[in-house]
Amino acid sequence: MDFALSEEQNAIFDMAYAFGQETIAPHARDWEAEGTIPKDLWPQVGALGLGGIYVSEDSGGAGLSRLDATLIFEALSMACPSVAAFLSIHNMCAKMIDTYASDDMKARVLPKAMTMETVLSYCLTEPGSGSDAAALKTRADRTNEGYTLNGTKAFISGGGYSDTYVAMVRTGAEGPKGVSAVLIEEGTPGLSFGGLEDKMGWRSQPTRQVQFDDCKIPTENLLGEEGRGFAYAMAGLDGGRLNIAACSLGAAQTGLTATLAYMAERKAFGTSIDQFQALQFRLADMEIDMQAARTFLRQAAWKLDTGAPDAPKFCAMAKKFVTETGSRVVDQCLQLHGGYGYLADYGIEKLVRDLRVHQILEGTNEIMRLIVARHMLAK
Ligand SMILES: Cc1cc2nc3c(=O)[nH]c(=O)nc-3n(C[C@H](O)[C@H](O)[C@H](O)COP(=O)(O)OP(=O)(O)OC[C@H]3O[C@@H](n4cnc5c(N)ncnc54)[C@H](O)[C@@H]3O)c2cc1C
Repeated sequence: MDFALSEEQNAIFDMAYAFGQETIAPHARDWEAEGTIPKDLWPQVGALGLGGIYVSEDSGGAGLSRLDATLIFEALSMACPSVAAFLSIHNMCAKMIDTYASDDMKARVLPKAMTMETVLSYCLTEPGSGSDAAALKTRADRTNEGYTLNGTKAFISGGGYSDTYVAMVRTGAEGPKGVSAVLIEEGTPGLSFGGLEDKMGWRSQPTRQVQFDDCKIPTENLLGEEGRGFAYAMAGLDGGRLNIAACSLGAAQTGLTATLAYMAERKAFGTSIDQFQALQFRLADMEIDMQAARTFLRQAAWKLDTGAPDAPKFCAMAKKFVTETGSRVVDQCLQLHGGYGYLADYGIEKLVRDLRVHQILEGTNEIMRLIVARHMLAK
């Protein structure tokens, strides 16, 4: 067993880290205040091969592994977890298209998605169904030309911003087998958006409802086979969970590094606060938690890469463990900054706000436990 990253993997991490520090970090707070990420960032991301990190090289992607992807998201989220997580969603959609779409759809959609001339959003959640995603109600009725969509998707990251929406819709009976995945391009008549959601974190990402009112799409926009959409959506989420966990890890590392530096400078009772043993123990606990989280995440990614049968269980366990560790660490970082941690200028409060949602989306951490327990009971 070898726990070391390869030379290539270290280079991948360094490349993503340098890009994040140069191109994202200096603007992250402004983008948050503006409530949007400038669209001209994405072609720069695409030029680095990050528009299709684990999309096959045949389809124009970088063909990297899931483990490589966790390194990229860890490194990028050191600059801003909100921007990094948004890229994760685009990649999740791109991979679904690469894996399940017809050659025609791949040729139509993937080239621009790889260069990130077009940005993709993932539409599963509805106002009445989140955790119980298979209860979704958005209908796609067959017509002679294709499908007519009616319904509403809720909480869509990139709603009203992205260029193409990968939506899970009902083409058949109730339950997961009645769900199909379809693509809807921006500008399609009948596609509209709700107002911008005012959120605790991830504020640079626009989140809106995506609405379909007699929205007509051609048959070619069916992704893969009818009735398989729920399975595709769930398969996409295994990797998505690793990416989100990696975003928690990178952001928490940034918080911890900043906290170490702050504690060396800050004086109280005649000494720098890093000299108090009670606080040193807290630092040590954070370091232990972070190392455990990183190792667990990379093991789960390796399981997914090697097609291990228990990969979904490990992805769920890692998502829960790492996102909770990340939130706990940044909360401690805020505490160790005292009142300054509460001020936006110190950059810690943003991390606390941004990471909180990682325990809720891509399946809540309660649902992660449900997945783990089901695997245990099935044995
Ligand atoms: C900022 C943000 C961005 C998002 N982006 C997207 C996106 O791009 N695309 C998308 O499709 N969705 C997106 N979501 C939606 C997200 O995936 C859902 O919010 C999430 O799946 C939870 O669904 P819900 O909000 O309906 O909560 P519910 O499912 O109503 O859950 C409420 C509570 O009950 C718990 N619960 C539910 N069922 C069980 C059970 N069986 N056992 C134990 N506990 C249970 C949950 O864990 C939770 O604590 C986003 C959400 C947010 C906040």
